[in-house]
Amino acid sequence: MARIVILTGAGISAESGIRTFRAADGLWEDHRVEDVATPEGFARDPELVLRFYNERRAAAAAAEPNAAHRALAALEADGRHEVLVVTQNVDDLHERAGSRALIHMHGTLTGALCAACGARWPAPAVMRVTDPCPACAARAARPDIVWFGEMPYRMEEIWAALRAADLFVSIGTSGNVYPAAGFVADARHAGVETLELNLEPSMGTRFFDAARHGPATQVVPDWVAAMLA
Ligand code: NAD
Repeated sequence: MARIVILTGAGISAESGIRTFRAADGLWEDHRVEDVATPEGFARDPELVLRFYNERRAAAAAAEPNAAHRALAALEADGRHEVLVVTQNVDDLHERAGSRALIHMHGTLTGALCAACGARWPAPAVMRVTDPCPACAARAARPDIVWFGEMPYRMEEIWAALRAADLFVSIGTSGNVYPAAGFVADARHAGVETLELNLEPSMGTRFFDAARHGPATQVVPDWVAAMLA
């Protein structure tokens, strides 16, 4: 039994019709990242930010998991390997494909978080600035999403799993956003074998022991089939 930690990024959901994050021009779905994915942007214009994530939530709900999400769920369900998926994605396509050991390190569109008291509750399909917090009644509801400048969730658990792993696989991520971009170096430092599966060589491709490039719906099922052969 191999212990496998799998990091996924926007590229695994691209073929489900969810756009990736275009780091090159700093735009995401035609918005500046600073406006929609920072605490400062939310403080300036909460209505714009909630509307942006309401659209992302609707797009995720309308999308279906693809063959890459399903292959990772099948690898876990097979039981021969101990699989942990750590995703940077805020969509719920991994869980809808059947992944159970899953960490949403950047939060999820299905959660709401009170910016005043920190309470969490399931996000309605449409979040509004007037939504009161169910715990403290403040009108400070935000999506339960980790923005730039904020600390990703469950990092100690992720680092412990990485150090204990036999194999680290990075799928569909550009290697631009830290700390996830540093996982390959952390894994290597711990003597863990590393593999990249991405459409094209990522920023950190030279740090991986091996890489296979192509669309996720091809390279991920091929890799899983080899692991289960
Ligand atoms: P990114 O957009 O920076 O990088 C995506 C990577 O996927 C690129 O290297 C690209 O070459 C590759 N890719 C594109 N299409 C692919 C395909 N069909 N198969 C395989 N690879 C493909 O995304 P990132 O590295 O995840 O970082 C961006 C940040 O934006 C993350 O923090 C994430 O939370 C957020 N985000 C999430 C979603 C989502 O939830 N689906 C979508 C956009 C952005």
